[in-house]
Amino acid sequence: MNHKVYNWQLKRHMEYKYPEARPQKQAAWIFDTNKCIACQTCTMACKNAWTSGKGQEHMWWNNVETKPWGFYPLGWDVRLLEMMGTQSWDGDKYTGKTIFEHPESGEEVLGWAPEVEDWLSPNIGEDEVSEPVQQGQYIKMPHQPWMAYLQRICNHCTYPGCLAACTRKSIYKRDDGIVLIDQDRCRGYQECNRGCPYKKSIFRQFTGKSEKCISCYPAAEQGNQTQCTVNCIGRIRMFGFKSPWDKPREDNPIDYLVHFKKIALPLYPQFGTEPNVYYIPPINVPDGFNKQLFGPGSKNAVEMYKKAYEDKKLIGILMLMGAAEQIPFTFKVEGDINNGYCIGYTENGQEIARVPLKEPIIIRKEHDQERDVHRISIS
Ligand code: SF4
Ligand code: SF4
Repeated sequence: MNHKVYNWQLKRHMEYKYPEARPQKQAAWIFDTNKCIACQTCTMACKNAWTSGKGQEHMWWNNVETKPWGFYPLGWDVRLLEMMGTQSWDGDKYTGKTIFEHPESGEEVLGWAPEVEDWLSPNIGEDEVSEPVQQGQYIKMPHQPWMAYLQRICNHCTYPGCLAACTRKSIYKRDDGIVLIDQDRCRGYQECNRGCPYKKSIFRQFTGKSEKCISCYPAAEQGNQTQCTVNCIGRIRMFGFKSPWDKPREDNPIDYLVHFKKIALPLYPQFGTEPNVYYIPPINVPDGFNKQLFGPGSKNAVEMYKKAYEDKKLIGILMLMGAAEQIPFTFKVEGDINNGYCIGYTENGQEIARVPLKEPIIIRKEHDQERDVHRISIS
């Protein structure tokens, strides 16, 4: 029997296999898609930490794909979107069906199972733009051809599709919101691979069991951020703990971006799993594409991002990203936009980072007299 649960991202109740059991703190990430350079350092940091073993060669718990043509596994999102049919919104309320509301499919969770080959091209479509670029074509503004990098890990969903689909009850959600697969209980039926709409539960032939991102829980338990976050070259990521949607705290940087500013949005909220990776949408792609990926709030988020300097707290958090290994549980800003700081604190109130709201621009002399060298880059 299904239960009625509340999904704040859809602004409505929906069907789910288990009753609502929302943790008081939820592991959550912010990804600023605009700052990503697709260097894949996050991908390699994760792989070196967790999936360098036998039979894990195809397994990328973290991947970065180029939209619109990048997919890992192949066609992961478009295949499900097509199965779901029309996904309609009435304002910010979702009026279409989630993956848990398709009884006609005969399944508890509407899903599909990737083939072995679907996992073998994680970089397909990388750096390909949305339409062919003709020889001699120059870029006009706004850009006609476009692309955007999408960073992907398990979303440690509030209503995980993987968990609902598992017939062995091998998947569980901890009281810090992290979703794990019990390797002793798993029998490799692969129902979670089928039921996860983000395809972030992956089968390992070598052990005959499924595995997924574990949110670097040994680090998280020590108050530290995940490997993909601390190694990010572009400083686009922040890991921390989100408060329940109805009790957000303004001094929590994740709550501030997700619930107060509404600038960081879930990926494909219409799936219904209430994912907990929150994206600042790319500002260079068509509105309709952003809406499909991040829901109806994406247009406002883009406009707000372009004027981020109007809000010291917002710009402060953007500058705080990637500034410390520890989790910034709280933050505050001091001073004005030109010479102020954003300060991050641990759970115990210890200062972990102090970053300027505006990075100083230093112009150096083209000719360095002391070393007698000419510089190509002077700023
Ligand atoms: S993203 Fe997939 S694997 Fe991760 S918790 Fe959600 S449904 Fe499960
Ligand atoms: S390390 Fe950061 S900048 Fe590089 S690909 Fe990953 S998310 Fe993007």
